[in-house]
Amino acid sequence: MSTRTIAEPAAGTFRILVADGLSARGLEPLATDERFEIVERTGLKGEELTRALDEVDAVIVRSATKITREAMSSTQRLRIIGRAGVGVDNIDVTAATERGIAVLNAPSGNTISAAELTLALLLAVARRVPAADRSMKAGEWERKGFSGTELNGKTLGLVGAGRIGGEVAKRARAFGMGVIAYDPFLTEDRARELELERVSLDGLLERSDFVTLHVPLTESTRGLIAAPQLARMKAGAIVVNASRGGVVDEEALVDALRAGRLRGAGLDVFSQEPLPADHALRTLDNAVLTPHLGASTAEAQELVALEIAAAIRDALLHDDLSSAVNAPAIAGEEMRRMRPLLDLAMRMGRLTCALADGAIARVDIRYAGGLGEVMRPLASAACIGILGEVVGRNAINLVNALVLAHSRGIEIVRTRLAEMTDYAEYAEIRVVTESGEVLVAGALRDGAFPRIVRIGPFNIDVRPYGSLVILRNRDVPGVIGRVGTVLGRASVNIAEYHQARLEAGGEALAAINVDSLLGPDVVNELNGLPDVLEVKQVILE
Ligand code: NAD
Repeated sequence: MSTRTIAEPAAGTFRILVADGLSARGLEPLATDERFEIVERTGLKGEELTRALDEVDAVIVRSATKITREAMSSTQRLRIIGRAGVGVDNIDVTAATERGIAVLNAPSGNTISAAELTLALLLAVARRVPAADRSMKAGEWERKGFSGTELNGKTLGLVGAGRIGGEVAKRARAFGMGVIAYDPFLTEDRARELELERVSLDGLLERSDFVTLHVPLTESTRGLIAAPQLARMKAGAIVVNASRGGVVDEEALVDALRAGRLRGAGLDVFSQEPLPADHALRTLDNAVLTPHLGASTAEAQELVALEIAAAIRDALLHDDLSSAVNAPAIAGEEMRRMRPLLDLAMRMGRLTCALADGAIARVDIRYAGGLGEVMRPLASAACIGILGEVVGRNAINLVNALVLAHSRGIEIVRTRLAEMTDYAEYAEIRVVTESGEVLVAGALRDGAFPRIVRIGPFNIDVRPYGSLVILRNRDVPGVIGRVGTVLGRASVNIAEYHQARLEAGGEALAAINVDSLLGPDVVNELNGLPDVLEVKQVILE
């Protein structure tokens, strides 16, 4: 079976479209490797973009190019969308997932730059640097009006203590600040490592002299800092948002700044970008504004380009989707260990699909073995096999398999079993249809050699390769001979013949590995043999 990987090179090389301006040094890992062909075309949109996406295996964007559902509507070849940066707001991730296109991002490259801008805004607001600068440029020498406040000895409250929040904490301590954090997902260990005190949001607002925000924009963070939260803050506190617009309610912030309840605010991000020219924030002297400059440094641009280039290279060459925002995060080494089991699950899925009758309502995937975090990719691999014939083998992969299954109303149940003594790595797929169910079990012998070890109630031992004939018959003398004769006459060589039965004289099942494909006439002839109940052929390769 040729497993559909994330992308198979069209003619030995992968073609990558760089659709927004990117650091040339950052792209070097791809540009200097002859397995990749780089096409740089910026400013594409509409039809032109759709056509360009149709001719490449991967595309890299920053934030200018919008990869919409329409842009992806006709592409058969595109496998990867890489975003040089964190947010994937300019990519329709849902549409990409449905089409089996992995969306990768580069989340770490601009961490330091964003953290440093946070500190820059903090200091600029605390010491009123921009206003003093404006006054100087206006020819004044005004000192009294620009009295500020020190950072030293004050409390900084971090809302969100991930990558950027963590870096801000380190730098804030260098300024002599005490740091507390509200982050429901922050572990005790990480808090200890960052020397942070974990507090509730209310506790943070009440205790902090400075509040900085470092959360993604999600349903739980939209409007997280609104009028009630601003009212809870200490009088004269300073707020800095260099995370995402929309986390702070801007109207409420304008009110608090106008009323002088807050000393000031530093904002790099806005709910609407560009910020409208007549926005009230632009009129406030105690608001320091920058136009989303968090990642705008030479270093960050080079780092994000390097990061996304490496992620795309690993995804195309090694199926490493650990940087994907829409696929199970499996790093290269982990994928190498999982690959034999996932490959077996795909073959088992294909076999169950061939043996099942009627619309599939539910798929149970059960696993026993030593691989961690394998259940989701295992379920995806099983669905690739099961649905490959339904949606087309090229239209389904690890990115979209579960989405496609769900969109067909198929319930997927994943169960990790306690260790099984017979096999170190064991997996079972049970497909429930409107007219019955089919169970196929497989195992890796010695951790590497795949076998199908059970079909329905029958224990067998078959290599899951090539063309497999599954034959149900009555357990009476002569059947094997007659089957052999039919196959021999058709010049079909039998590689392996496994016969299993539940009891003597009852029903038996034969799994026959054959070297060549059986034509429909041969399948019909087998079906017509005395004591043969049903014959099905499955192509696993
Ligand atoms: P991250 O994923 O490392 O950290 C985000 C943290 O927020 C996590 O620790 C998470 O647990 C926490 N969090 C999630 N929901 C929360 C909630 N409801 N309340 C409190 N905490 C919550 O991300 P990061 O790399 O640190 O980036 C943080 C933000 O900064 C992102 O929104 C990112 O888009 C933004 N960013 C902006 C710029 C810029 O140009 N201004 C540059 C880079 C990143």
